[in-house]
Amino acid sequence: MARRFYIKTFGCQMNEYDSARMADVLHKSLGWTAAASAPQADVLLMNTCSVREKAQEKVFSLLGEWRLLKQLRPELIIGVGGCVASQEGDAILQRAPFVDLVFGPQTVHRLPDMIGQLARRAHVVDVSFPEIEKFDRLPEPRAAGARAFVSVMEGCSKYCSYCVVPYTRGDEVSRPFESVLAEVRALACQGVAEVTLLGQNVNAFAGTMADGAVVDLATLIHHVAAVQGVERVRFTTSHPLHFSDSLIEAYASVPALANHLHLPVQSGSDRVLALMKRGYTAAQYRARIRALRAVRPDIAISTDIIVGFPGESERDFEATLQLVADVGFDQSFSFLFSARPGTPAAALPDEVPHEIKQSRLARLQAQLDAQTLSISRSMVGSRQRVLVERAAKRGGAELAGRTENNRWVNFAGPSALMNRFAAVTVTEALPHSLRGRLEAA
Ligand code: SAM
Ligand code: SF4
Repeated sequence: MARRFYIKTFGCQMNEYDSARMADVLHKSLGWTAAASAPQADVLLMNTCSVREKAQEKVFSLLGEWRLLKQLRPELIIGVGGCVASQEGDAILQRAPFVDLVFGPQTVHRLPDMIGQLARRAHVVDVSFPEIEKFDRLPEPRAAGARAFVSVMEGCSKYCSYCVVPYTRGDEVSRPFESVLAEVRALACQGVAEVTLLGQNVNAFAGTMADGAVVDLATLIHHVAAVQGVERVRFTTSHPLHFSDSLIEAYASVPALANHLHLPVQSGSDRVLALMKRGYTAAQYRARIRALRAVRPDIAISTDIIVGFPGESERDFEATLQLVADVGFDQSFSFLFSARPGTPAAALPDEVPHEIKQSRLARLQAQLDAQTLSISRSMVGSRQRVLVERAAKRGGAELAGRTENNRWVNFAGPSALMNRFAAVTVTEALPHSLRGRLEAA
């Protein structure tokens, strides 16, 4: 009997990508379809994040809700995947014995088989890292709209001192070059015009070609941009150490490469950067940005910053504020340090009171918000190329799409523009979006 599944996704774009693949595999292998909400589904799957403690707590609070559904319908299957599953493994079953499946980020393709095994076993746990097998076993992706994520590498080998990712997702493994391009071509044939190449450390991509040569992310970008139908290319998330000259050259020579870069800096203090094991100084980061702006003077640059790393002094924090102002970051993310079990930073002495960390975070966020708004205001009057993604939330004949620098623009226009590029003049800057006027293309 065809069953219905519901997938709840927490965390990063890699998880969003994996959830979409989970849906593909359940649909293709078992003929199951998506349910609109958890109570309507026969199978409940959670794709989890453990990068900060808060994200991990959400998992167990949602599991509490799902447990009540299972009390009403004991045949309900509950599965936990992603980074919490990878980190906790069997321990999830001790805390939540009503869970049937535990699977890691690298075993999503085995879901149908794991569900089959439940006929013989009470629980199935598979959080192994079978290298890149996942991509060979997944069905061809189904596009949903004109934007798509394409994962080009899995895992991370950087081992920043605060981060769980290398432990939950394993070391870096790149997909073969042709496998990535085949996925991009398949998506473009289904109408995808904007492709985001994904990886935890995406610019460490080292893809093997059919002749055995190994190529970098810049070469991949050239090929992806040349695929018929692809008009905009993005990539995330990059590490400053791998932000190579070849990538800067790609920004100079590939117009389809969006005028936006997300390049996490984490801190502006060299002392903290060294404790974080990031491998670069603030001056080296600034130098990369200068080189990039030499070829793309108006590029928007966003970042991730951790506030309250163990032992962060007021002076360290001020160095971060200074870097944020100097680079002129746009639309960035900032987080309070969260000690993750098993990471070296969790064992560092930390005498900074929580209230001080919170007030630093508030100061940083106020500065970042002000910079975002000032860049938005500077866009008023400019003509933007917008990829229309949906009807605007306020309804009517309004459409919503994204600019190259990743801002939402709401404007009046015909629904025939859905999933297409439109020329829009920005008329107003609001704190979280822009308003615009449709122009003749
Ligand atoms: N690979 C990317 C990189 O190196 O920037 C991002 C991966 S991580 C999932 C996303 C962001 O979460 C990081 O850039 C960092 O700012 C933040 N993060 C990771 N571990 C953290 C921790 N223990 N506490 C607070 N923030 C953390
Ligand atoms: Fe985590 Fe550092 Fe790898 Fe990013 S580069 S995923 S922060 S270990």
